[in-house]
Amino acid sequence: MDYSQLKCHYDYIIVGAGLYGATFARRATDAGYSCMVIEKRDHIAGNVYTEPVEGINVHRYGAHIFHTADKRVWDFVNELVPFNRYTNCPVAKAPNGKMYNLPFNMNTFYQMWGVETPAQAQAKLDEQRAEAVEAMRADGVTEPRNLREQALTLIGHDIFEQLIDGYTRKQWGRPCESLPAFIIKRLPVRMTFDNNYFNDPYQGVPEGGYTLLVERLLDGVDVLLDTDFFDRRDEWMSRCDKLVYTGPIDRFYDYRFGKLQYRTVRFETEVVETPNYQGNAVVNYTSADVPFTRIIEHKHFETFGQAVYDNPRTVISREYSTEWSEGMEPYYPVNDDVNSAIYTRYEEMARRETKVKFGGRLARYRYYDMAPVIAEALSAEL
Ligand code: FAD
Ligand code: UDP
Repeated sequence: MDYSQLKCHYDYIIVGAGLYGATFARRATDAGYSCMVIEKRDHIAGNVYTEPVEGINVHRYGAHIFHTADKRVWDFVNELVPFNRYTNCPVAKAPNGKMYNLPFNMNTFYQMWGVETPAQAQAKLDEQRAEAVEAMRADGVTEPRNLREQALTLIGHDIFEQLIDGYTRKQWGRPCESLPAFIIKRLPVRMTFDNNYFNDPYQGVPEGGYTLLVERLLDGVDVLLDTDFFDRRDEWMSRCDKLVYTGPIDRFYDYRFGKLQYRTVRFETEVVETPNYQGNAVVNYTSADVPFTRIIEHKHFETFGQAVYDNPRTVISREYSTEWSEGMEPYYPVNDDVNSAIYTRYEEMARRETKVKFGGRLARYRYYDMAPVIAEALSAEL
């Protein structure tokens, strides 16, 4: 839509056409409020944006797999676009040259140690965990102080060396000793032959891509693309009763308490003249000597079995994790002590606002998955 087609005044102006902004706009529109969404990119959908390349929906800002235990959220999205049966089962190529199943489960333990039963795997894990606990005790430590100690006491040194150490260093740009233990705690350790990366009961990818989902969320909503809110901030503020802001919170307050840090990802996407490049949507490269963290083969999110061969081409993306700097897309908040303290000061300012609501990943400076972002927008006060 054009600037000239906008109404003079809206009940809500929403900054950001990502999942938070679009879900909020849907609810407010259905409740009878007039809404307008401003988006600085040239497309809707924020980081879940998918675009067709060679007939394949490519996840431009990284692989997105929807998973949730929240039935209300699952039903809400499925009413807009049916989700398929995609289940995330990544595999990892390790420094020793072998492939392993993820998350850590009986298949991984069999591949790593040749163990065939849960009891055998448990014995191996207990032995390696005991070594790690012993080493920590020698240092006078009882609780894991960092990601390295957490990983060694959770899963042992073999898996740490082959599947965790190099990948984590690449992903975070810091040694495992300098990272908080909680990052690794969310990875499941399963004593069953189950390669499903997530524990949630509902999982899938929208048939036709995430952009279609967001298009349906924004049906009937005025959307202005290629527009940075800050270029006309005063005008937008005066043209609405309430503003919903989903961009970076530090920018909203002119960085007065300092800039928040992020990690970002650079994607190298290419079309390959083969129907099936790696046989799986996600292959992690856990060696520190390989510069990228993983390769995504997009067709496997929506095409299964023999149908993969119907398209003679495929699209792959290599992901390189890097430190964020001005002008790059902010992806992962760095929730360390310094950044959390800065965020708390912005949050205090936000709480005092009467006309502005803050929502989503950047405004809340939180590593939110898609389902919690939608849940938050569904329960936000109108
Ligand atoms: P965003 O999608 O970032 O939307 C915010 C929008 O605001 C953007 O479009 C931005 O351009 C716009 N904006 C910002 N500032 C301005 C401004 N000044 N003016 C106008 N517009 C502005 N979640 C999962 O559940 N499963 C996954 O597998 C998964 N994988 C991920 C992989 C990667 C690499 C990343 C980075 C995230 C992943 N996520 C995943 C998380 C998921 O992307 C987020 O939960 C979701 O996209 C957040 O939606 P949002 O609306 O808060 O933010
Ligand atoms: N991780 C790892 N090896 C892998 C996959 C994950 O060591 O092959 C570790 C890594 O530290 C990562 C954390 O587990 O930061 C969480 O992984 P997840 O895939 O949940 O991270 P995401 O990329 O979704 O944030």
